[in-house]
Amino acid sequence: MPSTIELRKIAEADFPTRFGHFRILGFQGVDGTESEDAVVLELGDIGTPEPVLVRIHSQCLTGDVFGSTKCDCGRQLKRAMEMIESEGRGAIVYQQQEGRGIGIINKIRAYALQDEGADTVEANERLGLAVDLREYRQCAEILFDLGLCQVRVLSNNPLKIRAMEEAGLRVVERVSIEVEPSESAEHYMRTKKEKMGHLLKFDM
Ligand SMILES: [Zn+2]
Repeated sequence: MPSTIELRKIAEADFPTRFGHFRILGFQGVDGTESEDAVVLELGDIGTPEPVLVRIHSQCLTGDVFGSTKCDCGRQLKRAMEMIESEGRGAIVYQQQEGRGIGIINKIRAYALQDEGADTVEANERLGLAVDLREYRQCAEILFDLGLCQVRVLSNNPLKIRAMEEAGLRVVERVSIEVEPSESAEHYMRTKKEKMGHLLKFDM
């Protein structure tokens, strides 16, 4: 993936939500081709030097919008918004990379394979797709544009932390974000823990 993506803030507005009073910012690639649009939710004054609480959230239509119990994405997003609200400042970068970058149609195909017994990693492999196609360079550029270099990252995913550091950010702390998995998400969560190295406290 190219690492020269230049993003620019195109639009910004006041954004009150059930989880706190944010501002919503729209980012677009300058060349309009290489990058996808991204949205940032920002709360409080993030311009001060202390490290800022940040969540990189990859779009999950099924979890974020439809309340799917196959994954924990929707609840993690809401939890992140609540944590930033209670901290009084922070930002969420919402990347439109559905299904860890495979797209919604392939995600539904992968769900069909999971119906037949495959786990999330095996399903992607059987479709010939990489397990995690997400690109963090773009997020890093957005965070730089917001004036953030030192961040406290809300994540359970060590690969995400490493990718953000490789993209040039200084991650001073990983703040875990845990929601109790629903029963149908248990198998998915176990796979994330065992096959993808996610750091989850709960025992399964
Ligand atoms: Zn999800």
